[in-house]
Amino acid sequence: MGAFCSVIKFENLQELKRLCHWGPIIALGVIAICSTMAMIDSVLWYWPLHTTGGSVNFIMLINWTVMILYNYFNAMFVGPGFVPLGWKPENSQDSMYLQYCKVCQAYKAPRSHHCRKCNRCVMKMDHHCPWINNCCGYQNHASFTLFLLLAPLGCIHAAFIFVMTMYTQLYNRMKIILRNKTSIESWIEEKAKDRIQYYQLDEVFVFPYDMGSKWKNFTQVFTWSGVPEGDGLEWPVREDCHPYSLTIEQLKQKADKRVRSVRYKVTEDYSGSCCPLNKGIKTIFTIPCTEEPRIQLRKGEFILATRGLRYWLYGDKILDDSFAEGVSRIRGWFPRNCVEKCPCEAETDPAPEGEKKNR
Ligand SMILES: [Zn+2]
Ligand SMILES: [Zn+2]
Repeated sequence: MGAFCSVIKFENLQELKRLCHWGPIIALGVIAICSTMAMIDSVLWYWPLHTTGGSVNFIMLINWTVMILYNYFNAMFVGPGFVPLGWKPENSQDSMYLQYCKVCQAYKAPRSHHCRKCNRCVMKMDHHCPWINNCCGYQNHASFTLFLLLAPLGCIHAAFIFVMTMYTQLYNRMKIILRNKTSIESWIEEKAKDRIQYYQLDEVFVFPYDMGSKWKNFTQVFTWSGVPEGDGLEWPVREDCHPYSLTIEQLKQKADKRVRSVRYKVTEDYSGSCCPLNKGIKTIFTIPCTEEPRIQLRKGEFILATRGLRYWLYGDKILDDSFAEGVSRIRGWFPRNCVEKCPCEAETDPAPEGEKKNR
């Protein structure tokens, strides 16, 4: 209850002006950046939220931020407590033992000092701190010290997340380098497996650039001269692979994508904004977390969608003469509730090979 009452003093809006100073601006900026980065890193890279460790870690990060900010604002806005203007000791004879402050027109109470920055006599003054733009003294000694204790602990936790994120990134990078792949090629290989399984084909996709030994793969990237192997245009492949087997697979996937795409008709205009406020709450809360573009839609247009989320679709606009010359492709995300599936799908190309499974 005592802590709550100290927050209520915050209603003194005059104190808000303490925020307009380089100390609090820098301190709050650093707290905001570190907390946000640690939370994003822990969710996206290192410790996914759906795991127990991930949730505990995330709750702890929020907890650090809340506790750090609580003590920081308490130290700043509750302040040290000032000796009342015109104060004098109860027993007037005791004034002979006290110093007199001409600015405050009062006696200086024991352990108080006049602060030139605050322009007041401060109770049990410790020092004037530019980071809270206030004095540290009688009332905020505890919250200021707790802030000093919690801030480094929170930083250690955030630093651990940053290091693990970097380590995870390095680990993933080395894993694909030792197989002589890139991230995109790993993705193509995954899609190749998916395509073969989907059409139940009697073929096996072998990644052509894997030299068969981790060391040989490693030396394709890291060389003593610092110049990577080859000319970047032609690449050595395994003996049992065609020199273009990866690009052949890519062409097959492209053809397959066309077959699997679904034709939609635009029923409602969409501005292409990242956060379409007029397209429903669910659409706003499930915005795709990607830098891929959003496309503007006009009623009556047609789209070939290649993938989607529950409330969003990704696809290519089917271009007609009304589009400007030189525009070859318009593709991106759009809300699902702006379009409706065409009764006859534009599946003109046959499946590449083999029998198509029922969907
Ligand atoms: Zn004074
Ligand atoms: Zn001060």
